[in-house]
Amino acid sequence: MKAVVYSAPTEFEVTDIPDPVPGPGEIRFRVELAGVCGTDLHVHDGTFFAEFPLTPGHEPVGIVDAIGEGVEGFEIGQRIVATGVGGCGECENCRRGKRLLCTSLTALGVTGPGGFAEYMIAPARWCFDASDLDPEQAVLAEPTACAIHGVERLAPRPGSSALVIGAGPTGLILAQLLAHGNAATVTVAAPSAHKLELAARFGADEVVRIGRDGSGYDELRRIAPNGFDIVVDATGAASVTQRALGHVRDGGTLLVYGVTDPSDTVEFSPFDVYRREITITGSFAQIDSFPAALAALRSGRVATEGLISHVFAIEDFEQALSTLRSDPTAHKVVIRP
Ligand SMILES: [Zn+2]
Ligand SMILES: [Zn+2]
Repeated sequence: MKAVVYSAPTEFEVTDIPDPVPGPGEIRFRVELAGVCGTDLHVHDGTFFAEFPLTPGHEPVGIVDAIGEGVEGFEIGQRIVATGVGGCGECENCRRGKRLLCTSLTALGVTGPGGFAEYMIAPARWCFDASDLDPEQAVLAEPTACAIHGVERLAPRPGSSALVIGAGPTGLILAQLLAHGNAATVTVAAPSAHKLELAARFGADEVVRIGRDGSGYDELRRIAPNGFDIVVDATGAASVTQRALGHVRDGGTLLVYGVTDPSDTVEFSPFDVYRREITITGSFAQIDSFPAALAALRSGRVATEGLISHVFAIEDFEQALSTLRSDPTAHKVVIRP
């Protein structure tokens, strides 16, 4: 089969490798679509916990085409999505119920073969039926699951005002979940007018165009002079995290939701955090949110129409990465193997 194979960070080729064979308890599926996300750029750059050699791709949807021994409840031809994230079950964090914080976390597409290939294998316990969703919706199951975990981390109080900075696919999904949940108002801020249009269509109460130079933040101040109860930084840019802190209302919460470079830092005033009782929290991936994500996609509570902006063949993986990295019109970029 054809697959993207990295030998080391930044070093990959699209090449033919043997078709994988499902072992006991595993399912093989023919990948219909696999989403490319910011994490894949970090995997490419070698700034994420990836293990090489590697076939990345952690947002797959596909059709079951081979079933390993002992697997029940799945059939050939069924559309499924797979979560690739698993804790070891034995480290201190796993044993105290924090499996997502496993010290040797495994993730298909990061520490094991993922979906930028014609076929992928996942343990059946990580596979979920998606036969009632279009592949274009189902490919957003993983980003939606991450957004659900983000909402769990926030546990928004009824009537909260929320600001989501960054209007990438996962930011817009999180904004929708907040809007349909406890938030009274949701503001989305981002540099791209096109993405803000989508944000408004998805139910954002206010959209604000901001720039890397700091423009537009005055407008956020006008909307919420005392700040927002919830501020989500969904950009992965530390300079934005820095500004975001100043827009958290007294007693409010800043959620760090984007992936920055591990060496990035921001400054904050301990006195400010102390006096204003600010909570700074993080949301990393997801581990058990697929069922909730699929439910939200099925009901339409999370709308996805218009999120996919680019579809590339697997041979054009390099172009997919550069589009995601630098094309301002790129939103969700997907590979169709
Ligand atoms: Zn992702
Ligand atoms: Zn563990």
